[in-house]
Amino acid sequence: MIEFKDMSLVYPNGHHALKNINLKINDGEFVVVVGMSGAGKSSLIRSINRMVTPTDGELLLDGEDILAFKEKKLRHLRTNVGMVFQNYNLVKRMSVLRNVMAGRLGYTGTFRSMLGLFPQEDLQLAMANLNRVGIGEKAYVRADQLSGGQQQRVSIARVLTQQPKVILADEPVASLDPPTSHRVMKDLKRVSKEDNLTTLVNLHFIDMAMEYADRIIGLRDGEVVFDGPIDQVSEKT
Ligand code: ADP
Ligand code: ADP
Repeated sequence: MIEFKDMSLVYPNGHHALKNINLKINDGEFVVVVGMSGAGKSSLIRSINRMVTPTDGELLLDGEDILAFKEKKLRHLRTNVGMVFQNYNLVKRMSVLRNVMAGRLGYTGTFRSMLGLFPQEDLQLAMANLNRVGIGEKAYVRADQLSGGQQQRVSIARVLTQQPKVILADEPVASLDPPTSHRVMKDLKRVSKEDNLTTLVNLHFIDMAMEYADRIIGLRDGEVVFDGPIDQVSEKT
């Protein structure tokens, strides 16, 4: 479970990006965070792997306050909490498979991996995850040869190969056209459910959120203005 308790985030320039957030996210929930640009969506989800550090309150992951975490625990946290980015963040000149292996290794530059010496079971896991998002036949293609939608599915295979408990997806479909966006959201939701992951996805558009979310959290100016299952959204917004 992820629990925000009176959590606030003030950036060094004084901008109050999150204000007294109180939320409980249950294991296995597929949560979509919606709000206008600048509402604090990115700050909210990036708090959960401490890419940003809230300045007040608590943020508990399975009962532990991650705001107190130092280096060693932060590394462990970032293994357990994987990220999917708007711009995929693949290493362009590397093969798809190597990019996915990076999820397993946590980084790309080990001596063994430079020689292509990956443990067999890691390779199998990476291939299996590519197949799960329908892109196994691209394993040996350079990442930058793929379309945006394919690259985002590779980045989903990569985060799965990291075997996290939580996935944070920051505007994962904002660079994609509508049909491709749906394909990516469907894949992300299906694999999240198959692996019983807790997933938080930031989206711009409420209609997309309504289609995929178990639960929608609405943010405005750093505050939670809506939190509920999708059948209650229209009553309050
Ligand atoms: P969203 O993801 O909803 O667009 P963000 O969490 O990215 O919102 O940003 C929330 C607010 O905080 C915005 O006004 C943004 O400009 C500001 N902000 C984001 N990052 C920083 C930063 N590092 N320093 C100062 N202000 C920031
Ligand atoms: P994204 O689309 O990935 O959220 P942004 O353009 O919002 O990217 O922000 C890019 C980077 O700039 C992030 O690291 C964010 O924290 C930082 N940032 C955003 N707004 C501000 C701001 N007002 N002042 C300082 N840094 C900011």
